[in-house]
Amino acid sequence: MIIHSEQEMLDFGRQFAKNHPQVIELVGDVGAGKTTFVRGLAEGLDIKQPITSPSFTISKSYALPHNNGHLIHYDFYRLTDPGLMSEDLAENLANPHNIIVIEWGESVANLLPTDRTTITINYTENGREIIL
Ligand code: ADP
Ligand code: MG
Repeated sequence: MIIHSEQEMLDFGRQFAKNHPQVIELVGDVGAGKTTFVRGLAEGLDIKQPITSPSFTISKSYALPHNNGHLIHYDFYRLTDPGLMSEDLAENLANPHNIIVIEWGESVANLLPTDRTTITINYTENGREIIL
């Protein structure tokens, strides 16, 4: 599937929210649209807070309006050792109400369940190619 614009990426995220897995891993270069996807996903989950990139804080958490879980958005960019963040991730994975989205998850790959969904976003001439 080719996503032709930022708006289409937001729509894709919003649609994805209707039937989402617990764990979503996002793969793609800087600027590919990973965080844009999360913004759409959050909208589809009825989260009203603005989603901002967690690149400096590593993780950001947003309460889900329909249960007591959270959408937790991680960005492990350039982190070779996740340290305490791996405990935080393991704790958040243990609550089945939480929805976990991870950018640059290589350093925590061993903690992620094998039944996660990986969304790869590639640049192409015509737009962003999505591979599930
Ligand atoms: P990442 O989190 O992968 O580094 P971001 O989502 O933060 O990327 O940024 C993607 C940028 O690319 C945004 O500024 C967005 O407006 C722009 N953009 C242009 N075309 C697209 C597209 N087809 N899909 C997603 N983002 C796009
Ligand atoms: Mg990002």
